[in-house]
Order: sequence, then structure tokens, then C-alpha cells
Amino acid sequence: MEKVNYDVVVIGAGLAGLMASHEIASAGYSVAVISKVFPTRSHSSAAEGGIAAYIDGNSDPNDNPDYMAYDTIKGGDYLVDQDAAELLAYKSGEIVRILESWGTLFNRQPDGRIAVRYFGGQTYPRTRFVGDKTGMALLHTVYERTSGLEKVDFYFEWFAWELVRDESRVRGVVAFDMRNMIPVFFKAKAIVIASGGMGMLYKHTTNSYINTGDGYAMALRAGVALKDPEFVQFHPTALYPSDILISEAARGEGGILRNNKGERFMARYAPKKLDLAPRDIASRAILTEVKEGRGFPGGYVGLDLTHLGEEYIKERLALAYEAAKAFAGIDATKEMIPVRPAQHYYMGGIDVNIEGRNPDIIGLFAAGEAACVSVHGANRLGSNSLLETLVFGRETGRAVVEFLKSYTEPSSDIDKESEKAEQLAYDVVKRESGVHFGEVVNKLREVMWEDVGVFRNEDGMKNAISEILKLREMAKDTYVLDKSKVYNTEFYNALEMKNMLDLALVIASTALNRKESRGAHYRLDYPKRDDENWLKHTIAYLRGNTVEITYKPVKITKWKPEERVY
Ligand SMILES: Cc1cc2nc3c(=O)[nH]c(=O)nc-3n(C[C@H](O)[C@H](O)[C@H](O)COP(=O)(O)OP(=O)(O)OC[C@H]3O[C@@H](n4cnc5c(N)ncnc54)[C@H](O)[C@@H]3O)c2cc1C
Repeated sequence: MEKVNYDVVVIGAGLAGLMASHEIASAGYSVAVISKVFPTRSHSSAAEGGIAAYIDGNSDPNDNPDYMAYDTIKGGDYLVDQDAAELLAYKSGEIVRILESWGTLFNRQPDGRIAVRYFGGQTYPRTRFVGDKTGMALLHTVYERTSGLEKVDFYFEWFAWELVRDESRVRGVVAFDMRNMIPVFFKAKAIVIASGGMGMLYKHTTNSYINTGDGYAMALRAGVALKDPEFVQFHPTALYPSDILISEAARGEGGILRNNKGERFMARYAPKKLDLAPRDIASRAILTEVKEGRGFPGGYVGLDLTHLGEEYIKERLALAYEAAKAFAGIDATKEMIPVRPAQHYYMGGIDVNIEGRNPDIIGLFAAGEAACVSVHGANRLGSNSLLETLVFGRETGRAVVEFLKSYTEPSSDIDKESEKAEQLAYDVVKRESGVHFGEVVNKLREVMWEDVGVFRNEDGMKNAISEILKLREMAKDTYVLDKSKVYNTEFYNALEMKNMLDLALVIASTALNRKESRGAHYRLDYPKRDDENWLKHTIAYLRGNTVEITYKPVKITKWKPEERVY
């Protein structure tokens, strides 16, 4: 197999991967950035509503970074590591200022300062935005900044498949050139996994097709643990029936959720915060309304923007307006937008510390949605993810630089290990019969939605585990129809299927294991939070068909867990 050498390989060219690459390459180290898609098509570009930041001199006079950290911790139902939340809040203003100086054109207030709006769970408004296309604006800015650096090489339309490791260290990754299926061993001193989320595991998701959880599965197969894998976020307002996101900005700007009686039903579930309650609470409220007969046929409720006025909607919520028009035939200036919950974000991720370092393998780092630092705990607050990608992308890049300063080359040869990864991948193309991989994926997405979704219980999750185990068996006998070597997307979809199955087993098993309700993990059979037994992080390893679970304490600095009411 062909081999190339770099100081660092970064898997993923979204905001987290690019920010880490920027730090590493600026320090003079060579970086290969591998991405399934062209960098500015990474999922960060889909982020709409904004990026949270406390900015000194440009925030509510009563606000401060400690309040921001507190909101994040309470929003995460106290599973957040509080040192991470403090770092996120204290660095937020600086990071937005940096992006502004690099060229992001944030919306302004009449006096010229960066504009701000409320997002769910915020005591004071902190979300900064570029209309409702914030992610796109940030991603173009960071890509432009990073792609100009001499030490960065981009490998886009390359598929990272397996990590290569020795006893204790990561030594590289095997990736395929998607144009011709040729595998290459990227040998490196350090690897940063910044491969984003996993929405495709669920039948209903706001994520696009590229979010198949590859990084999590790659890490699991290399013997690395995921932290808090049971925590999956469901966004309350996905457009019915296409599941395109209607950003939380719509409620931040004054949008109201209404049932089939026209009632502002959030008053029943979050009397103070109403429509701006955190996502887990709003998602459960919507499904409860539907279940109790107050939804609309098909299973949705209405998001009412009509009182905001046509001009305001078209200026501040242009994307929501256009999506409702194009994909539901609704004019949001005159009618309610039909919405229902859909999978949106993954709080779980590769276990890393506040510097992005993984404790299982030397030289392995992770950042962004692929990582669990843990800054979102059991439920992420809206607009905190873009912030996390940039703050912790930068922290991780800096930690990699420190790691490289004292790096010594191992004496053992590793090249043979890379050949095994190639074989594992080619098996699916060689087979002529069996089950088409699409069947397995469709069934998996159905099972995850039904049994490991917004509402969970023991029977459902046991059923999910048994179904996933069956699908893992079926997957050994899957094939692809396309046998060509040119842009064989079916081949990569089949590899993604393998990744999705590995991750799904870990999610379902750890969800069954956690016998309480906390944030987005809501169990009908254990409806209360149980700090005495469960105020701890889940740490999960995948060993064959078995998920091995241990725990880590939650870091508490200033804020004692209290009841979470809004
Ligand atoms: C519709 C939508 C709207 C959102 N709006 C907001 C918002 O307003 N504010 C907010 O804070 N958050 C928002 N989020 C969440 C936020 O956008 C993401 O969590 C964040 O952008 C993830 O960034 P990332 O850098 O970790 O990963 P991504 O931007 O998803 O990038 C992942 C990268 O990994 C690459 N990759 C993946 N697998 C492989 C592989 N096997 N081989 C090679 N490359 C691979 C991809 O090509 C891509 O380059 C939103 C999410 C969605 C779905």
C-alpha cells in the first residue's frame, strides 16, 4: 500500500478540524486534512442560528461568563464537566472577536456592535449570528484562513477508514481516495479525529447523509472508549415531513409553538422559559401533545411566526422561511410551520480531556462533535456547538503542538498493520450475493428511532440491542451492486453501514444501562434524575459484540447539582 508521512493527520474539515489544523500548521508542523467532502461542504456549514458568546462590553450589563457557564451546566443537567464549561464561556468572546477579525460578517446592532439573540436555556441573550447562515459564514472564514497555510495539505473526497496503532500509540490511518478506491496509509505522529456527528443512525434527523458516525466507530474498533454515548439530542423543530431543521433562532426571535387548539402549550412544560426551554424539554413536550391528541394528523405541531411580520421574518429568518416554502409549501408569514422532533446532535463522543487528548492511546486527540470533552453533558444548549468546535478545536491544536515537541519516533515497524484495514474493507465489494447493505441501514434507522429515541424504556432498548445484533450478523453477508472502481459511492456507504452498526450497539447498550432520566436520556421506567447513583460519566468500550462499561466522575467546580426547572 502506498504510504505518505505527516506530523499530524486531522480527520475532518469542519470547524473543529480546520481550527485544530490552523494551530498545528501555524506552529510549523505538517498536517494532512482528510475529508469525505470538500471542506466547505462539511456539516458545520448547515449550522443556522448562531454561536453563543459572552463579549465584554457587548453583552447584557447583568451578564458575565460565570452565568454562561452556569446556564451550560444546568442545560446539560449537571453531567457537564464544569472546568470545561468555564473554559468555553471565558474564551467565547475572544473566539468570536478572532473570527470577526478574520472576516466573518456578523449581523450588527444599530450602534455597530455585534448583534445578539436569545437561544434556549440562556439567562441573558448571547447568540451571535450571520442571519440564519452562521455556520456557512464561519466555515468559509476558517477554511480561507487555514487553506493559505503552507504546511497544510487537503485530501478532500477521501474516506478515512481504520486507525493504525501499536501497543500504546496511534501510528496513522488508512484512507481511500474516493475517486478510484485506492487505499493509502497516512503515517503520522498524532491523529485528530474531528469527523462530526452521526445523525444517519436515526430515521428522522436534521443531519445530512455524511453524518454516519465514522470517527466514533473507528475509535471504538481501535480500542478507544466513548464517553456518555447514551446522550443523543433531538431537536424540537424539524420541518414536517422532510426533517430539515427550522433553527432555534425562530423561537429566539419570538416564534411560538402551538397545538391543534392554537394553545401555547409550552406554558404547561416550562412556565418561565416557555418556547425557549432547552431542546430535550421542548421535544418531549411536542411528542406529548401529539400523543395526547393535540397534534396535527401525521404527528406534528405548529411553529407560529406570523406575528413577527413579513419583513422581519425574511430578514432574520430567511432560511426558515425558504425551507418552509420549498419543502412544505407553507408561507411562514401567513401560516404556522409544521414541526416535529428529529435527531440533531450527539453529546456523547470520543473520550478526551479538556485539551482534546484521549487517555486510551498516546497521540490520539479528538475535537468538535466527534469528541466528548464533556461540555454539553446530558443536553447541549443551542449555539454552544459552533463555539465548542472553535474553542476546543484551538485547544486541541495547541495540545498536539505540545505533544509533538517531545515526540520520539517508536522503533517498531507498523506498515504491515495497515494491510489488515484494506482487507476488511474490500470484503463487501467481493461478495456477489447476500443482503444489500441498504436493507440493513434502513432497518437500523427505524429501530434506533423507535426504541432508542426521545422516550426510552427497558423493553424497547432490549429489543433494539437484539435487533442490532441480528443486523450485525446480516452485515457480514452484505454486498454492493456497483463493482466499479470509479467513484463507487456504494462501497463507502457499505463501510458507513459498518460504522453505524458499531456505534448503535454502544448507544443502545449504554442507554439501557443508565437507569435514570437526565437531559436528553429520558426513561419512562425511571423518569427521575438520580444523582446518588448516576452523577457520573459512562465510559464504554466495544469488544466484539459486548459493550464494556466503566465510569468517570463528573468534574464539579462551583455549582452543586440542583433541580432543573425552567
Ligand atoms: C442543521 C443543523 C443546524 C445546526 N445549527 C447550529 C447552530 O446554529 N449553532 C450551533 O452551535 N450548532 C449548530 N449545529 C451543530 C453544529 O453545526 C455541529 O455540531 C458542528 O458544526 C460540528 O462541527 P465539526 O467540526 O465537529 O464537524 P463537521 O462540520 O460535521 O465536519 C465533519 C468533517 O468530518 C469529515 N468526515 C466524517 N467522516 C469522515 C471519514 N470517514 N473520512 C473522512 N472525512 C470524514 C467530513 O467530511 C467533515 O469534513 C447544527 C447542526 C445541524 C445538523
